[in-house]
Amino acid sequence: MPINASVPRTDLGTHVVFNQGEALVDVNLFDGDWILSALVEAAGGAGHVERLSHFGARTGSEEVQYWGELANRNPPQLRAFDRFGRRVDEVEFHPAYHALMALGLEAGTSSIAWTAPRAGHVAHTALLYLLTQAEAGVGCPMSMTYAAVPALRKQPEIAESWEPRIAAARYDARCLPAHQKGGVTLGMAMTEKQGGSDVRANSTVAVAQADGSYALTGHKWFVSGAMADGFLALAKINGEDTGLSCFFVPRWRLDGSRNALELQRLKDKMGDRSNATCEMELREAAASLVGPEGRGVATILEMVQHTRLDCVTGAAATMRWALSNAIWNAQRRSAFGRRLIDQPMMRQVLADLVLESSAATALAMRIALAFDRAADDPAQGLLARLMTPIAKYWVCRRATPVVAEAMECLGGSGYVEESPLPRAFRQAPLNGIWEGSGNVIVLDTLRVMQREPEAVEAMAQFLLAWLPGQAERIDAVLIAFRAGEPTRARQCVEQLAVLLAGASLVELGLEALGSAYVNNRLAPVAATSFGAAVLDSTLTDELIEWGALESGK
Ligand SMILES: Cc1cc2nc3c(=O)[nH]c(=O)nc-3n(C[C@H](O)[C@H](O)[C@H](O)COP(=O)(O)OP(=O)(O)OC[C@H]3O[C@@H](n4cnc5c(N)ncnc54)[C@H](O)[C@@H]3O)c2cc1C
Repeated sequence: MPINASVPRTDLGTHVVFNQGEALVDVNLFDGDWILSALVEAAGGAGHVERLSHFGARTGSEEVQYWGELANRNPPQLRAFDRFGRRVDEVEFHPAYHALMALGLEAGTSSIAWTAPRAGHVAHTALLYLLTQAEAGVGCPMSMTYAAVPALRKQPEIAESWEPRIAAARYDARCLPAHQKGGVTLGMAMTEKQGGSDVRANSTVAVAQADGSYALTGHKWFVSGAMADGFLALAKINGEDTGLSCFFVPRWRLDGSRNALELQRLKDKMGDRSNATCEMELREAAASLVGPEGRGVATILEMVQHTRLDCVTGAAATMRWALSNAIWNAQRRSAFGRRLIDQPMMRQVLADLVLESSAATALAMRIALAFDRAADDPAQGLLARLMTPIAKYWVCRRATPVVAEAMECLGGSGYVEESPLPRAFRQAPLNGIWEGSGNVIVLDTLRVMQREPEAVEAMAQFLLAWLPGQAERIDAVLIAFRAGEPTRARQCVEQLAVLLAGASLVELGLEALGSAYVNNRLAPVAATSFGAAVLDSTLTDELIEWGALESGK
């Protein structure tokens, strides 16, 4: 039963409890979030509103919010052996984790992008955004399951057998061969001890078998979603330096025996506590080649492009959740004779946070829209090629300072573990680290800028179409970036991210926010903390009104 279910006593004899906040529960995280709903509709997601509205009510409910808390307080436990000393390599989770996984998968978080006739990536993005606000840790296995599909499609016979199990949108927690299960989850095993960002240093060896399969031997240093039914992994065929190849490693062999994936231990992580991240050893594990030999990095990048969108979404949702709590508290707490929400300086801080959160959400939605349109419009695929890493870099970087500022809006109570803010704060840096840490993302962007002029052109066209008044600035940053000077690269990516966010907000119907964002974040003397930017008072009022979650829906 949720902690707050009983009616608390306020007259404690020594004092009466009053002027305290209340838990942000039983709100509809979709209907009540005017900005999210507007962006989803503008990005073509109107056909998904009913599903999202239902999901927003569930994820915002007291029950589901409590599941998030429980799944974090009771992190997964490794069960490498059974009581008789036989290897099982399984992970045990709290029931709340399973409930969250079922909720997310059955709503379509991992499948809808591949099954919906229209706006599937937009719907996926909105579902993940809502789910993250209940609990971020389950987002990781769901994201990898979603993102594995384009990589699996590089090997049609694997896609044919596994994609329908993803499309089934079912959670089946049993550790059984996939064909005996109602639904599956997938993971990714790239990082090794001697090289994470530099995957070329991978030492896992794949040896071809007589039946056309491969046996993989080596280790993986971080493998999240540790109970996945299969993993995409990188290895060198016969250990030769002819480039990495991509392999699909199922948890069970075709003959029904457990595959040789040994879970060594679980990482004791700062945040993301509900998600099991393991160290894994592969001992001649049965695997199938995915995509061409020696082209493993290109194959797995098909997956990474999609997990990077989810990093943007996850970071944006974490910001949103922290911000919603900050506004909620400010509406209910008074100091110096006035509600916090009516104090001018608090209004400036909150409005600035709404602006940042809206920009992050618009970037996620705009990338999702580009993914949706890419099949019919190659320019959208090119736009996504650059927009995804740029947004991944920027939004993930903004998450930690946004959550810290929001935490401060709750005063001391925000720093206490009973509040959701510490959990959000510990989660906040993670999306910046995995799927390409900051510098690696910037270097990737730099490579695209230099080698794929058509992607640069697609981005320039997009920016100029929606921010014509910024033509000079757009030109200047593109020239500086093309020069390829690594020491200027972070600066260029930051400026492009702000411009892309501004253009996305304008295109998706939030013009006032788009120009305020660009003008503030790219001002000659830009404010460095939230609330230091001086926003127009009408816009401040509007931002707070739009940013406040409406309750009771
Ligand atoms: C909770 C968690 C879960 C994870 N789950 C998975 C998973 O499921 N599957 C998986 O494969 N991996 C996973 N990872 C691993 C993650 O993807 C890597 O940690 C990440 O890619 C960075 O690699 P690294 O740790 O080896 O750091 P390094 O590669 O050593 O990088 C360290 C720092 O150096 C910077 N750097 C690297 N190269 C350059 C350069 N040329 N110039 C300038 N700076 C540079 C990086 O940006 C980074 O800041 C997970 C990590 C975490 C924390």
